[in-house]
Amino acid sequence: MTIYNLGSINLDHVYRVDHFVRPGETLASSDYHTVLGGKGANQSIALARAGAHVQHIGAIGQADNWVLDQLAEAGVDTVSITPLDGASGHAIIQLTDDAENAILFYPGTNHNVTRQQIERALAPAGPDDWLLLQNETSGLADAMAQAARQGIRVAFNPAPMTRDSVIPLLAGVDLLIVNEVEAMDLAGVDSVTEAEASLHRDYPGLALILTLGREGVVYIGPEGRSRVAAFAVDAVDTTAAGDTFIGYCLAALAGGEQPETALRLGSAAAALCVTRVGASASIPERAAVLDFLRN
Ligand code: ADP
Repeated sequence: MTIYNLGSINLDHVYRVDHFVRPGETLASSDYHTVLGGKGANQSIALARAGAHVQHIGAIGQADNWVLDQLAEAGVDTVSITPLDGASGHAIIQLTDDAENAILFYPGTNHNVTRQQIERALAPAGPDDWLLLQNETSGLADAMAQAARQGIRVAFNPAPMTRDSVIPLLAGVDLLIVNEVEAMDLAGVDSVTEAEASLHRDYPGLALILTLGREGVVYIGPEGRSRVAAFAVDAVDTTAAGDTFIGYCLAALAGGEQPETALRLGSAAAALCVTRVGASASIPERAAVLDFLRN
């Protein structure tokens, strides 16, 4: 069983500044580092650390081949990541001492993933496999059409939410994973309870996972409804919590676990993630998650 993740790969360039650069100003930064990110890459890393076989489908700029090594080192199959002319998806992040940030983002090659590339990657896939999608690359409709033709199950995390482009895709989705804000946007309502009811009513064939931050997570699907509380931890940085949850939860569901077990595993992994600073670096290893669950 393979989970194919059509997802973004972003390089975050993080600059430490004492104020955000002003129009016309040239500002020296006191510290700089680069981090691998993007919901796609984070979710692939989480799936791999959870023990799933994950093949990432995506694109990077030719100059950034080191990204392939970093993903491979995390256990991600990188054969379907294409190096292209042009810049990788990247962000210029100004970070102040009070942890405020200002972000300039360029999607770059994430928007140059082609239908041919997707079809080639998914050619060997079938009903035992899953396709995971977020909303940060091109090719979502092509990938879903291919999944439908080959009976591949589809998990969709429509983030960032763009309602008009996401709604037409929902008919082909088996598992929809959204946070509170995305659920309310998608349903066009302003309460989570209403969003849950409305999505369940409008898409009865869909299994729905609703992540509620510190309030935990809800699953509604053919097996019924279950809710798992978040683990009580001292959160220091919630970056990549959602991605970590998705990776661990989908790895478990795809591996045949019951929804409640999968939610618990995802929640434990996400709880560990929020106790650590960083994005992909804060996604825990499986052994640490199992250890956390035992204690
Ligand atoms: P997103 O980051 O996509 O908005 P959420 O904030 O809903 O996603 O977080 C995803 C999951 O991470 C939650 O369902 C929960 O299990 C876990 N989580 C998030 N914040 C915390 C927290 N402060 N303490 C413990 N677990 C958390």
